[in-house]
Amino acid sequence: MHFKRGLTPLWRSEHETQIGFEPRIARRLTLNDPSEHALVAALTIEHTLPQLRGVLIRAHADPARAEAIVGELADSGVLHISPRATSRTGVPPGAREMLSPAAESRALLRDDDGWPTVAKLIESTVHVVGLGRTGARIAVTLAASGIGHLRLTDSRPVTPRDCGTDYDTHDVGKPRDAVIKARIRTIPGSRVIASGPATEDDATVLVDTDVCDIVRARDLVFHSVPHLSVVLSEISGTVGPWVTPGAGPCLRCLALHRTDEDPAWPGMATQVSVKSAVAARGEDPALAGLIGSYAAAQVVCALTGHRPPCAETTIAFHLPDYTTSAIRWTPHPECGCIAPPADGDVAFDEPVTTTA
Ligand SMILES: [Zn+2]
Repeated sequence: MHFKRGLTPLWRSEHETQIGFEPRIARRLTLNDPSEHALVAALTIEHTLPQLRGVLIRAHADPARAEAIVGELADSGVLHISPRATSRTGVPPGAREMLSPAAESRALLRDDDGWPTVAKLIESTVHVVGLGRTGARIAVTLAASGIGHLRLTDSRPVTPRDCGTDYDTHDVGKPRDAVIKARIRTIPGSRVIASGPATEDDATVLVDTDVCDIVRARDLVFHSVPHLSVVLSEISGTVGPWVTPGAGPCLRCLALHRTDEDPAWPGMATQVSVKSAVAARGEDPALAGLIGSYAAAQVVCALTGHRPPCAETTIAFHLPDYTTSAIRWTPHPECGCIAPPADGDVAFDEPVTTTA
């Protein structure tokens, strides 16, 4: 047994030690005698109970205290009891070193060794649609976080305006999805897939310019695929909402709310969606990195069983100072994504299948 990796025993007083520094996870332990600090120090590396008794004997402390101290530390969740307790099943051996920091940090928040959380990500499939600077950052960060299967959609060629972050000048002219696929091939444990129905993916990230793709979003709601909207605008970008179909507002709800506020919004949204596709506005590098990493973190959060901060919420990141603001959304009564509208007009018919 030893302290979970990342935890440091700290001296508070002759009769008290603290395991860990951050208040949220730190645990205090009262010692009967100052010499018992020797046992605490020994637990920074692997020791058995008999070995810990020996440590106390050499420190002229009561060896019978070893069991009580270890029991208290184990109860407080700061000990890694045995290597046999690890649950790395399903995590490819070649990826274990890379993913160890993720498991170790999760272990500090849970009773287990963190690997069950990582294993959930390894089993997951996430579809990233839109691979500019921001989408590329999302895909690569997801792969590095342990997402086992990624589906990529964006065959537009890399341009010099995409380079400097996840693309370099050698990639110019090549399809974005092919370049990111090759990049992900170098990340242990993750691979890009092209087979299988996208409707069975665990999550989709939609990266759009100015307005989200409502048709594709509607398809995802119909097939109950959780999805995250990322929208890049002229001087800001938004992450969210994280849509859990049937359990909160969908992206069509947002469009209906915006139309309530401005009846001209749908017409302008149609214009800007066409013009943006043609113009292919560039993406500020720092904003792309910020939004890409944040969006990937939302997906990891959701796929490991936590409610993402972007659930029912859009978080906007603004130029020029990269400040943030948030808008919370509610289901729109006319959408029908939560329940059919009162007039019986079911808004979500069988969607037209969209092409990749
Ligand atoms: Zn809706």
